[in-house]
Amino acid sequence: MIGERVTLDELPLREDLRGRSPYGAPQLEVPVRLNTNENPFPPPAELVAEVTAAAEDAATRLHRYPDRDARVLRAGLADYLAGATGVHLGAENVWAANGSNEILQQILQAFGGPGRSALGFEPSYSMHPIISAGTRTDWVPAPRRPDFTLDAPAAARLIAERRPDVVFVTSPNNPTGQSSSLTDIREILRAAPGLVVVDEAYAEFGSGSSAIELLGEFPAKLIVSRTMSKAFAFAGGRLGYLAAAPAVVDALQLVRLPYHLSVLTQAAATAALRHAEATLGSVATLAAERDRVIESLRGLGFAPVPSDANFVLFGQFSDAAESWQAYVDRGVLIRNVGIDGHLRVTIGLPNENDAFLEASKEVPR
Ligand code: PMP
Repeated sequence: MIGERVTLDELPLREDLRGRSPYGAPQLEVPVRLNTNENPFPPPAELVAEVTAAAEDAATRLHRYPDRDARVLRAGLADYLAGATGVHLGAENVWAANGSNEILQQILQAFGGPGRSALGFEPSYSMHPIISAGTRTDWVPAPRRPDFTLDAPAAARLIAERRPDVVFVTSPNNPTGQSSSLTDIREILRAAPGLVVVDEAYAEFGSGSSAIELLGEFPAKLIVSRTMSKAFAFAGGRLGYLAAAPAVVDALQLVRLPYHLSVLTQAAATAALRHAEATLGSVATLAAERDRVIESLRGLGFAPVPSDANFVLFGQFSDAAESWQAYVDRGVLIRNVGIDGHLRVTIGLPNENDAFLEASKEVPR
C-alpha cells in the first residue's frame, strides 16, 4: 500500500496530540450489540418511504450547495422541542450539525480554545475532554459523588474557584444514567462565569424536565444540546442540534464550515422529524425494558445504577475487562467504559436483553 512505511511518529503532528487514542467503541460483528446506546427499533416502513422520497427529491438538487442555514430543518426541530418542553422556541433558537458531537465541537471552537478551559463532572461522556483537546481548550475534571450523582453545591464552589469558560453537565449522564434536577442545574448556572452546556442526548428517555425550561432565565449562559441519534433512531443519519439564544447561533456561524449539512442530511432529517411521534413511541417500551433489566440484574446480585437513559451501568466485577470479553464470547457486545468494576449495557430489543441477562448469569465477576 502506498505510504504504509510512514509512521505517525514521523508526521509533524501537534505535540499535544501525540500518544492519544482516537475515541471509539469496538464495532464487532456479534449477534447482540448493546454497546453504543442506539435505539434498537429500526425505522418504521412509512419513515423509510418518506426518507426515500425526500432523498429522491433532494437528489435532483445535488449539483447545488444545500441551504447553509438549514432553515426548514431548524424550524422542524424548534417545533419538536417546543412541543416536548412547552417552551416557545423558533428556528433562530436552534442550530443543527452532523451529530451533537459536531455541535459540541463548534461550541468549543467558538467559546473555548487556547487559554480557555472547560469543566465537566466525571465519569461522563468521554468526548467532552477529547473535543476540548482537539480545540486546545484546557480540560478541568471535576468529581461526582461516589454514587455518580452530581453534588451541585460542591460543583458550584469548584466552578466559582476555577472559573471555566464552559461547563458541561450531561443529563441524563452517560455512562452512569442519572439526570440532574433543574434546581441543581440552576445552581451551576448561577455559579458559572461563562457558558453551561447541558448535554441532553438521552433526554427523551427520562421523566424529568429539560434544561430548555431555564433558557428564559439564563439566555446568555445556557446551551442545551440534543441529538437524533438516540431516541429518534437516527444515529446513522447524523443529526445533532441545540437550543439557545439566537446570539449563540450567530457565534457558531463564525466557526461552522459552510454547507456542513448536506442536502441529503437535511432532507432525511426533516422527513424523519415528521414521524417523531411514531419513532418516539419506542421510548416507553425501552424505558420499561430498562426497568426490567435493572430489576433482573438486581435479582442476579449485581448493583445496577439507577438510570433515566437507554443504558444501565452495573457492577461489581473484579476484572471488568475480563468480564466484558466473557460477554463477547457469549455473543453479547456491551461497553467497558473504564469505570473500575463496572460495565455499561445499552437497552436493546426484549430478546436481546434476555440474551444479555442469560449471559450475565454465566460471566465471571
Ligand atoms: N452526548 C452524549 C452524552 C452521548 O452519549 C453521545 C453519543 N454517544 C453524544 C453526545 C453524541 O452523539 P451524536 O454525535 O451521535 O449526536
